[in-house]
Amino acid sequence: MIDEPLQGPAWDLTSEYLNPEAPELQADLDRLSELLTQIEKLNEDLDGGGDAGGVTGIAAAQAIYKLSEQAVIMLENPYCFANCLLAVNSRDDAAQTLYGRLQAYQKRFSDLLEPLSQFTDLANDETIDSYLADEEVQASEFQVRHSRKRRHEILSLAEENLINGLGLDGIHAWGDLYDRLSGTLSCDVLIGNEVQSMGIAQASGLMMKPDVQLRQNAWKGINDAWRTHEESCAAAINAIAGWRLELGRKRGRRKPVHFLDAPVHMNRITRKTLDTLLGVAKDARPLAQRAARLQARAYGKTTIGPWDQRAPAPDLGQSSSVGTPFSSAVDIIADAYGEVHPSMGEFVRMMVAERWVEGTVGDNKRPGAFCTGFPKSRTPRVYMTYTGSASDMITLAHELGHGLHSWVMRDLPESQRSYGMSLAETASTFGETLVRDALMQRADTAIARLDIAWEEMSALVAFILNIPTRFEFERRFYEARQERPLRPQELNDMMSEAWQTWYGDTLAEPDPLFWANKLHFYISGLSFYNFPYLFGYLFSSGVYAKRKEFGAGFYDRYVALLRDTGRMTAEDLAQKHLLIDLSMPDFWQETVGSLESRVDQFEALLDELNLAV
Ligand SMILES: [Zn+2]
Repeated sequence: MIDEPLQGPAWDLTSEYLNPEAPELQADLDRLSELLTQIEKLNEDLDGGGDAGGVTGIAAAQAIYKLSEQAVIMLENPYCFANCLLAVNSRDDAAQTLYGRLQAYQKRFSDLLEPLSQFTDLANDETIDSYLADEEVQASEFQVRHSRKRRHEILSLAEENLINGLGLDGIHAWGDLYDRLSGTLSCDVLIGNEVQSMGIAQASGLMMKPDVQLRQNAWKGINDAWRTHEESCAAAINAIAGWRLELGRKRGRRKPVHFLDAPVHMNRITRKTLDTLLGVAKDARPLAQRAARLQARAYGKTTIGPWDQRAPAPDLGQSSSVGTPFSSAVDIIADAYGEVHPSMGEFVRMMVAERWVEGTVGDNKRPGAFCTGFPKSRTPRVYMTYTGSASDMITLAHELGHGLHSWVMRDLPESQRSYGMSLAETASTFGETLVRDALMQRADTAIARLDIAWEEMSALVAFILNIPTRFEFERRFYEARQERPLRPQELNDMMSEAWQTWYGDTLAEPDPLFWANKLHFYISGLSFYNFPYLFGYLFSSGVYAKRKEFGAGFYDRYVALLRDTGRMTAEDLAQKHLLIDLSMPDFWQETVGSLESRVDQFEALLDELNLAV
């Protein structure tokens, strides 16, 4: 018998273009230029002569929309190609050149589409009704109407342009400064008897090792490094929040603007749903804290530390696994997917047969995994490095879930194919859970089962305790920042209190500098990059739990739900397909309840392995 290779196959991109200099690619860019020139001309009718709401203006807006639907495909297809090539080989010169060229097209595209978005946001309701009356344009109705929910915040065109212009060296400069700081910062970590100097990213990697002392030393090293920069970090976080709050005051002339309005709107949920979600998470603390304590017990301890947040299962020294060859992983995933419905299993096999999955091991490959897609052929691609580990298999299952999501949406108009972050991980997490459960059933030793259950517990603790800790800190910080900038010590205290609120006595000590070392608080483009993770985790767990309830009818509902993710709010979607009200606690509570048996199983497993304090 010939041994199956562990690593995955290379993908095939030639169905799109042969190479970055292919004439077909140039033809798409030429077509893009033509479309953009037509949009440029129509823009004169749209904003010329103050007749934007008149017949000429509406017709121009409709024509621009239709052209933009074609243009976005001609732009995104080469972009996707360049990205895929660069992921496999970051030193691909031709792909680099293509990427640089595309940025110029991208800039022109977004500049030329600005008048249309101003029109759809600012025109009166009657004009918008006429605009949307066109059959083709109607496809964008959700997008347009959702965006208009915040139209009361829009300032004059001159003011908006000024804000955009100043933002580059204002709020975004603070985010940029933070990125540079974290990218160049080095720290000292005690490894064995020797202190080693290394970058922050490398030290963070040590926090994923099974050696507790090493994790703790890495955490300490990272914190010591950040402490020397706490004044700079405080300046940055205060300025980023200050900018947003000031802008909110300016935008609130007609109606008060809350700092959570933008993130909630962006995730296409309501404030009530967010409050309900956090309320249920708060009630779920005992369950999540129990999971955290059990994880501590597996290490022979009674509490976890901030350095344990990404700890692996304890090394029990009997792991004899040589790894799962790619082809076997595909079999396992296809079977697990196929349990829901045969066509889901067929989808997995098609992805591999068509060579739409990249899984090779290569020196110049970008780390991580993603799923992308070519808009021209409407075909997905999955990228990763497959080495045969169980976590690689879960990653593959996750990315194939994203692939399935886009596959079931492939016949929809472009304007209905993008969704908010709150719903983005529905299919991927669902696929992950399917495969994890399948692996659990196949696992023949308690140690193998521990590895899988450990990941489940880590997710539960991360989403139900760690993410809300970040949210709690950020919310309290924004409230306090309305009065004045905060000192580093005040930020430390606020952060520690948030840890205390969520982790209680399961935590050996809080992580006061988390506000300084967590990149998410410094993303200048968006705030509160935390609660969507909690939403996504519980929503997809809830959808998974609904499989039993809907039985044979589940698959059709699931596909219909995924297809609507780009044209509905999360609440409407859940009401329509799952018959549940996301703004009420019931569904969320049920979902938390469905996780309880998993914690029980984990505890039973520790008993079986005689793991005790
Ligand atoms: Zn994902």
